[in-house]
Amino acid sequence: MSELVPEPRPKPAVPMKPVSINSNLLGYIGIDTIIEQMRKKTMKTGFDFNIMVVGQSGLGKSTLVNTLFKSQVSRKASSWNREEKIPKTVEIKAIGHVIEEGGVKMKLTVIDTPGFGDQINNENCWEPIEKYINEQYEKFLKEEVNIARKKRIPDTRVHCCLYFISPTGHSLRPLDLEFMKHLSKVVNIIPVIAKADTMTLEEKSEFKQRQESMPFAVVGSDKEYQVNGKRVLGRKTPWGIIEVENLNHCEFALLRDFVIRTHLQDLKEVTHNIHYETYRAKRLNDNGGLPPGEGLLGTVLPPVPATPCPTAE
Ligand code: GDP
Ligand code: MG
Repeated sequence: MSELVPEPRPKPAVPMKPVSINSNLLGYIGIDTIIEQMRKKTMKTGFDFNIMVVGQSGLGKSTLVNTLFKSQVSRKASSWNREEKIPKTVEIKAIGHVIEEGGVKMKLTVIDTPGFGDQINNENCWEPIEKYINEQYEKFLKEEVNIARKKRIPDTRVHCCLYFISPTGHSLRPLDLEFMKHLSKVVNIIPVIAKADTMTLEEKSEFKQRQESMPFAVVGSDKEYQVNGKRVLGRKTPWGIIEVENLNHCEFALLRDFVIRTHLQDLKEVTHNIHYETYRAKRLNDNGGLPPGEGLLGTVLPPVPATPCPTAE
């Protein structure tokens, strides 16, 4: 009797570890041209970026937005007269602009929310703001679940919300805390201390020490002055000119760099991958419990593949 020789078992397929090949051996392949290809694509399509400003009226929101983009990006709310009775709900206005720099087009929308917290009773006054933010997610979701969805869905979602804190208080008001607590679940919030030039240095550092994450203390102006032979954005006072882009004077430049130069893409990604995703999951879940056709979306939802962030195309 022949002995049973156990057949060698086939080894389970193990995915091969990617071997790093030094491209010098193969000659130039051109992998790094992806950067140039992406650059060309961004140049061709441009991108959307939406900023919301929230805070009491008179804190310098419109001025700061103008300072940020050195153009009349945010118009003053002309229809709102201070003599008039304070409107019951905050009136939200979105103004779009196309800004071009180095051949790249940014479709910037500034959403101004005049008079947040101006009323005597400010209970639930963040609700219209939250509603606006969610409405933009809803719009995006409706486009996304459309069978013939657009290749590039127009993005009106709020990518960042600058929250203006009054420089006169010694700390955050309960209303500020309530706003940030509620809204940080749905949007990226960047707190800023408004009109920092009206505070003494001691007040400023004391204010900042009380906060967990340090808000940028900013000064806004859309007026230019001549300082040491250079034209600078500033505010003229009897004691001299406060230069908004001078880091010894205020942190406007830090805020601008954070929003535009270092975190613009991050703000967009967090909006898409976290805030929008949370909204979308909840919405599709809620809708799933209802009979087809009776869902809030009014359609039977086809499976939605995870879409990459539109800007990362
Ligand atoms: P908004 O109601 O929050 O949009 O405030 P505005 O931008 O209309 O500004 C209200 C007033 O505050 C105007 O007179 C501005 O010139 C002034 N202002 C704006 N920013 C600053 C600032 O950083 N410092 C000081 N001292 N005044 C400012
Ligand atoms: Mg304004």
